[in-house]
Amino acid sequence: MAHHVTLLPGDGIGPEVTSATLRVLEATGVEFEWDTHKIIGTSAVEEERPELPDDVPASIRERGVALKGPITTPVGEGFTSVNVQLRQRLDLYANVRPCVSLPGIDSPFEDIDLIIFRENTEGLYAGIETYDARLEIADSTARVTRRGSERIVDFCFDYAQKNGRDTVTLAHKANILKESSGLFLKVGREIAERYPDVNFNDRIIDNMCMQLVMYPQQYDCIVSTNLFGDILSDLAAGLVGGLGVTAGANFGDDYAVFEAVHGSAPDIAGQGKANPTALIRSAVMMLDHLNETKAAQAVNTALRDVYAAGEVLTADVGGSSSTTEFAEHLAARVEEEM
Ligand code: NAD
Repeated sequence: MAHHVTLLPGDGIGPEVTSATLRVLEATGVEFEWDTHKIIGTSAVEEERPELPDDVPASIRERGVALKGPITTPVGEGFTSVNVQLRQRLDLYANVRPCVSLPGIDSPFEDIDLIIFRENTEGLYAGIETYDARLEIADSTARVTRRGSERIVDFCFDYAQKNGRDTVTLAHKANILKESSGLFLKVGREIAERYPDVNFNDRIIDNMCMQLVMYPQQYDCIVSTNLFGDILSDLAAGLVGGLGVTAGANFGDDYAVFEAVHGSAPDIAGQGKANPTALIRSAVMMLDHLNETKAAQAVNTALRDVYAAGEVLTADVGGSSSTTEFAEHLAARVEEEM
């Protein structure tokens, strides 16, 4: 039976990497019925509709799962990020970003296999901001709640336990942000006691960044608040070949939205240069979520083979192939695997 999934191609390089991903999914033979929504963000505003039209969250609520391309957010003025709105409206509190090395990528490290679990609905991204125009003073509130902290740390430990992972490291700044980071760390330590089989430690965020760049192999599962998690995951993406290869997924208790870590990359949009690997790896996470394990494994194996061969790759990872050429080549390899 076909899986009913919401499809949001997004903008910028979104439509290019989405059609490449659909080609690879098609090669697995798994059947999907897509509910596609192209009008979102800037294109919706141009049609005088809200940036996040209500039919989008409604579609995801009905289907439970979405595959999403990046959506541009205007810097400074303009509408609130559609990505943040979607995560908040669907209460997608866990942003999961695996950083796993692929063979043949020119990177200072090999065999990195770590996962960042980022709290996705509160912290400094809670949207609690004020600006006093007279005094020209701006405030952003980092809201951290016990419930929000408990559920993301518990999600991370639960994932670690179910997937045979050894260690959870909690990244914080509780030495300075004694209340917000302090609460997150306190709750983290409490949750850790419920999982005696998983090791637990914590790191101050600045030290964590240095440690990650020097000794990334020491890390396994890393959990943090929204802003720190966002920055850490781009840093970790850089360790395994950049944003073109780094997958992501947003989970709540009821819904899951699979999207790459990268944005809409306006500098290369429409040029056939984008690397679809990140969205393809997000789609692999989706296949796992839908219990299509064989197909997920086939795409992973094919990806490793194509990267190890190094003949058909996009420019960001040292190749000269286009988005479509890479997708066609990978899809042919997936068909062989299935
Ligand atoms: P970006 O991730 O779009 O681009 C950063 C750099 O990485 C650029 O040089 C880009 O060319 C490169 N890059 C990104 N993805 C790539 C890929 N698949 N293949 C090859 N190169 C790739 O980040 P940005 O420039 O800071 O953001 C651009 C827009 O995207 C902004 O409007 C931002 O708000 C939005 N954004 C959206 C999401 C999302 O939808 N989830 C996430 C991050 C940023």
